[in-house]
Amino acid sequence: MPEMRLGLLLVISAPSGTGKSTLIRRLCAEFPRLAFSISYTTRAPRAEEVNGREYYFISEQEFTGLREQNILAEWAEVHGHHYGTPRPAVLDMLAQGRDVLFDIDIQGARQLQKVFAHGAFVFLLPPSKHALEQRLQRRGTEDRETLARRLGNARKEIEQAVFFDFQIVNDDLEQAYHELRAVYLAESLRSRCNPTLAETILATWDEDG
Ligand code: ADP
Ligand code: 5GP
Repeated sequence: MPEMRLGLLLVISAPSGTGKSTLIRRLCAEFPRLAFSISYTTRAPRAEEVNGREYYFISEQEFTGLREQNILAEWAEVHGHHYGTPRPAVLDMLAQGRDVLFDIDIQGARQLQKVFAHGAFVFLLPPSKHALEQRLQRRGTEDRETLARRLGNARKEIEQAVFFDFQIVNDDLEQAYHELRAVYLAESLRSRCNPTLAETILATWDEDG
């Protein structure tokens, strides 16, 4: 019997500025088998972003069209813009046995928990309000008003952390990365993801007669 693998869903949420993109980039670089779920967004691309790599950048009108056609597995308004996950792309990747990683906000993750109950849902926490503020400032992608709004939202978002399967504090980046990596590896060893593994090994008994 050929070995079969079922892809897993790894959903990572965090208040903006916590370090989620940093950790996700590293995880994708170490594990090329992990496919990134590319979301649609109505926000403008940042300087280094490429359409079709970080996001599909679309208009409000196009976003409404996708919602009405029920293309989105989940969607949310985050910091004044719309974001959504394309369902067909996710189902395709899972059908190919690929693990799929989602970088989505907390509201979106809570919706996805209802659609894909067997996913692994990770909440990344900043060590403190002060550390989060410093990281947002250092990243330099927000004006003062946006930064204040993101800090205010973070408080409400952190109240939702208990509803996630895993909570990782991104204080020391190395430690947070190793914890995230451990979650991914443990999840990928679940029997559900490897339903024919033992049968494949048992077949070697038959080969010996
Ligand atoms: P997010 O994707 O969660 O919005 P980023 O990955 O863009 O956050 O990180 C925000 C800023 O914080 C970046 O400048 C990043 O280099 C920095 N950063 C990430 N993790 C840490 C950490 N553990 N300690 C200090 N700075 C960090
Ligand atoms: P940014 O604008 O900084 O790239 O992202 C802002 C927030 O939107 C982040 O928390 C990010 O995880 C979230 N986000 C990105 N894509 C999606 C998506 O498809 N759905 C939802 N609900 N949130 C998303």
